[in-house]
Amino acid sequence: MTRFRPMLASWLALGAAFALCALLSIAAWQKWTAKGSASSSFYVFGTLVEVVLYDIRPEQAQTAFAGLSHDFRQMHRDWHAWRDGELTRLNRQLAQGQAMQVSPALAQLLRQGQALSAASDGLFNPAIGRLIAAWGFHDDLPPEAPLPAPAHIAELVAANPRMSDLEISPNNIVSSRNTALALDLGAYAKGAALDLAAAKLERLGIRHAVLNAGGDVTVMGRHGARPWRVAIRDPFGWGAIAALDVQAGESVYTSGNYERFLDQDGARFSHILDPRNGWALRDVVSVTVLAENGALADAAATALSVAGAQDFARIAAAMGTPAALLINDQGQLFATPAMAARLDLLGADQSLSLTTLPLARNLLRETDRAAAVQSMQRISL
Ligand code: AMP
Ligand code: MG
Repeated sequence: MTRFRPMLASWLALGAAFALCALLSIAAWQKWTAKGSASSSFYVFGTLVEVVLYDIRPEQAQTAFAGLSHDFRQMHRDWHAWRDGELTRLNRQLAQGQAMQVSPALAQLLRQGQALSAASDGLFNPAIGRLIAAWGFHDDLPPEAPLPAPAHIAELVAANPRMSDLEISPNNIVSSRNTALALDLGAYAKGAALDLAAAKLERLGIRHAVLNAGGDVTVMGRHGARPWRVAIRDPFGWGAIAALDVQAGESVYTSGNYERFLDQDGARFSHILDPRNGWALRDVVSVTVLAENGALADAAATALSVAGAQDFARIAAAMGTPAALLINDQGQLFATPAMAARLDLLGADQSLSLTTLPLARNLLRETDRAAAVQSMQRISL
């Protein structure tokens, strides 16, 4: 019996050590899950997308990031406006008057583009790929002056390519009534990509996350007891001009002329074009839209840049995006009432003036178009 005592003692010590280790690891685990977050970055459409997942386990994060990496790569390849891929193949076929069967995801994205373009009264028009190419924006580098010839621009505008020229059959065969149509999805692909990514995270059981594509943000769930806070970049310098509290499921997208532009003797021509005359925007510096869908916010930010201050309230109402902000090259800020109510202007820059642009009441009702936009099926890859 006595011979066994030391052995028993060492077994007990070992057992206690194991129990302690287990307790410690449980404690560590709980600490990790309470505060556990993980982040990863992905390169899509010329932007670094940072995804931060909160309140998750390491293996869950690993699965999610592997899934997102696969999806973002596929979207980058299939939806690119000038690199060889599914969209450029489709553009070649349509230019020759041919139809092409596309993947269900691309077909759905194009249907979404049709609904958004109709809602914007054609100011958001992803069918103007030829104009965008003529301005030199189908390149990773900023275009060089000179400007395109006015006669060439006029010719491309006269051809009148519109999203409604596209016919998309139930089995995803795409054809166009207009061979001048060329698709460039750059004004809403990022929003659609983050919507898809958020939907995937939700399916994987992840509830709290931030997806940030260079300041364009989609949030899921909560940030502890606080709402998420998103900064709006100061388009005239470094830092932020304003901040917004963002609720679960909301997206904030900004279109800015500082992102990509053509510089001609110090005059800045934005990468956003007015489809009505083919010219690059000059006086709108940035537009920010807050909405419950990333593609909608992204498309609306582009459309409202084209609308400018004069047509801002009408297009915001027609698109069903009542929270929007515009900054012009005079440093004037124009906000819809819903945006003004949520905006925290940062700093004490007295040179900034904020004008509130009321939306027409009758237009604020859910129109058929806005309902169509909101009921859009989620795309799955
Ligand atoms: P965003 O930064 O979301 O406003 O997207 C700008 C990009 O959308 C440009 O680089 C073009 O590829 C494309 N684009 C420019 N003007 C328009 C327009 N009026 N409608 C749709 N897409 C446009
Ligand atoms: Mg956009």
